[in-house]
Amino acid sequence: MKDRRRMHRRYYQKRLKHRKHKLRKTVFAVLILLFALLIGLLVKVVLFPKEDGKEKNRHEDNTSADLTGDDQKEQKSTAVITLNGENSIEIKLGEEYIDPGYSAADKDGTDLTAQVQVDSSALNRAGEQQIIYSVKDSKGREAQAVRKVTVLPNTEYDTPGLPICMYHYVYDPASPPDNLDSNFISTDSLAEEMKYLHDNGYYFPTWQEVRDYVDGKLILPEKSIVLTFDDGPNYMYLGIPILEQYQTPATSFVITSYWNDREMLYGYASDYLTFESHSHKMHQGGGSIGHGGIYTAMTREEVLADLEQSFEICGNRDAFAYPFGDYTEEGCSTLEEAGLLCAVTTENAKCYPGDNPYILPRVRMLGTQTLDSFISAVN
Ligand SMILES: [Zn+2]
Repeated sequence: MKDRRRMHRRYYQKRLKHRKHKLRKTVFAVLILLFALLIGLLVKVVLFPKEDGKEKNRHEDNTSADLTGDDQKEQKSTAVITLNGENSIEIKLGEEYIDPGYSAADKDGTDLTAQVQVDSSALNRAGEQQIIYSVKDSKGREAQAVRKVTVLPNTEYDTPGLPICMYHYVYDPASPPDNLDSNFISTDSLAEEMKYLHDNGYYFPTWQEVRDYVDGKLILPEKSIVLTFDDGPNYMYLGIPILEQYQTPATSFVITSYWNDREMLYGYASDYLTFESHSHKMHQGGGSIGHGGIYTAMTREEVLADLEQSFEICGNRDAFAYPFGDYTEEGCSTLEEAGLLCAVTTENAKCYPGDNPYILPRVRMLGTQTLDSFISAVN
């Protein structure tokens, strides 16, 4: 009995000691935490006293009517814009937009209608768009009104057309190649042309934008142009520094079976060059249509498999250039199935809204062309 009681007592003493130890540890931890909080607060007050002040001002602003400086803009404008006509209208892409009118006035009755800015730039694109009207009150605070516009796709509007230029090889005039022909353009001529595009503010649409343009879903700037170089970057590498110098982006259509892998191809990478497919192994004879390229003689499955290999090396699958320009209308659905947005031929013309995106013509670029003939070809 005695032994058991002693054992109990020892057990309780041990637990008590343990509990005291635990309590001490907890108190210590709480003290450390409080100390850390205090240091944190001190650091904030010493290092960022202004921010605190600003925050206080901001709170006061909500209830104060007397405002100065930047804080004015945070307050609601006293100007009101009233839109005439329907708040929701429908037009076709490219159709002239006639605004049903609007008026604007400040709280004190001042007419602000003449100062209203109208942003209708969104009407360049099909879809649910907005026209934004904005005006400033006497304290410079902006008021806005929005009119909803449904822009329907349309291919029947006036456009100068889009030139997709087809270049091939670039050479150094100091050492012309033996097989020089009109597919070769000198670095001097190319530089002259790229400088012209740069100096005249040309726009270089992406393949998605080209697709939207021919689908009647996007209006491109009048001065728009697409540059393409066939057969691969190794044939036009002398042109890459020129594209970079004049900030004129181009597409290189690559015959990907000439390259082991993407890493090898991307030795020619540039911010101004996009690699797209000119097929993997279809750039060879074997067909009976057009120039006799094998593409038109291949099955759907064979074409899809070839394209897939080609996309893998290019790293892109937006555009395709038919080898030798040979195509069939039936083949277009295969290219669509492959996920391509556009395909280009060697037919000599500009593109227009309503064109089949898988048979887009190109404007042929010749090494012998003068700057004037280049300008008239692309305008
Ligand atoms: Zn080719």
